[in-house]
Amino acid sequence: MTLSDGYPTETIIGLEVHVQLKTQTKLFCSCSTRFGAPPNTQVCPVCLGLPGALPVMNEHAIDLAIRAGLAIDCSIPPMTKWDRKQYFYPDLPKGYQISQFDLPICADGFLDISNEADLETPRRIGIIRAHLEEDAGKSMHDEAAGRKDSRIDLNRCGTPLLEIVSHPDLRSATEAKEYLNELKLRMTHLGISDCEMQEGSLRVDANVNLHIDVDGKKIATPIAEIKNMNSFRAVEHAIEHEVDRQYDVWEETGKTIKDEAKTTRGWDDAKGKTFLQREKEESADYRYFPDPDLLPIRIPQERVNEAKANLGEMPAKLCERLQTQYGIKLYDANVIVNQGSELIKYFETAATRSGDGKRTSSWIQQDVMRTLNENEVSIEEFTVSAEQLGDLLRRVSGGDLDNARARDVFSHLLKTSDSVEEAVKHLGIASVDSSEIEVLCRELLDANPQVIDDVKSGKQQAVGALIGQAKKKNANANPKQVRETLLRLIEQS
Ligand SMILES: [Zn+2]
Repeated sequence: MTLSDGYPTETIIGLEVHVQLKTQTKLFCSCSTRFGAPPNTQVCPVCLGLPGALPVMNEHAIDLAIRAGLAIDCSIPPMTKWDRKQYFYPDLPKGYQISQFDLPICADGFLDISNEADLETPRRIGIIRAHLEEDAGKSMHDEAAGRKDSRIDLNRCGTPLLEIVSHPDLRSATEAKEYLNELKLRMTHLGISDCEMQEGSLRVDANVNLHIDVDGKKIATPIAEIKNMNSFRAVEHAIEHEVDRQYDVWEETGKTIKDEAKTTRGWDDAKGKTFLQREKEESADYRYFPDPDLLPIRIPQERVNEAKANLGEMPAKLCERLQTQYGIKLYDANVIVNQGSELIKYFETAATRSGDGKRTSSWIQQDVMRTLNENEVSIEEFTVSAEQLGDLLRRVSGGDLDNARARDVFSHLLKTSDSVEEAVKHLGIASVDSSEIEVLCRELLDANPQVIDDVKSGKQQAVGALIGQAKKKNANANPKQVRETLLRLIEQS
């Protein structure tokens, strides 16, 4: 990209994404990872770092990390180990974090994102590694009104995180956002993390600098790492701001990557600016060494193969299949896939049964999802089964039921355990004989002769008023059938 009145620049971005794994318990103890509990109620001697407490590894976290690695095409080495990363911070009671230094559980993967320059060939973003580590606690500075002190909640201490580190292959804020969207979709879709950003289950650090082309000579600006962003919008804005800031600083000072080490910056959402936090520590400052309390982990190839066999369909492939198999649009396929595996299963069952993918997709996105939101229930707890919805929509597609009547049946199904057939019977919905419809239409036309004139002068929509009246006289009258009958009678008159 080129700044309006400067040298051409290229933005270089690498992302470090922390994903909280969806385990019931912490990485090295049996404390719950549930979000929102009162401060310091989900802690024990292990995650508090009390003397003599010993960590015990959570196998489920290993399974999820393997799954995540396979989802981003990483290799899973046969051996991995735990290292201590030493640093002092009040929310880290042990004085070190258990992490992985030189033998991460996942290495050397990639993620494809769409390519604006060439829609046929995706942009491949390299992934250096993904490693497991435990989270720290949470410092709350001055949060209570009028207080001048800081408090610490250690509930989050020891929660399993997977840190996914990309190569600096991203070239714009938009690409960064797309990478994050795709990553989040895979992690949620495969049940690896819920990625609830407002709960801190997905946090992003962005390493950003510029390559400035000064008359054919490439100059790199110092790298800034923007830490701990918890919304994609923040990531996008912070990168955009950093591009402008680094260019301005370079113009002012001429400082390049050779003159200044990497710095750490924060993002102030309210001001829309990044701000300097500290000069970056080098990894030597952390004095990594293997954790003596934890054995290295051997991961036999069979375990990886099994995880691969159970991985399921990647979201992009799944979207493609839903489009071709059920005849729905890409947008609708995306909405369904984004809702997670249970809703996808629900859609597929209902669409197969109804034989009408488009109608099923639109009913699920409107009536079903609205009901779920209103009642705050998940699709697993939903009282109308996929089979029932399929049966209902098959009747609509076949012309036995109109949409309004189908909604009545749907409401009835929500409240009872009736089948669709029983609901139809219970509501007294009977298909009306076509001769009955014709009699009804004749009556209406006799009472409203001006409609005949209107339609004959080209205003077909005039029959709309009569359809409403027909429904009032006979709730079972099918609007489509009434409309066709009215138009036929008018033509014959
Ligand atoms: Zn604990």
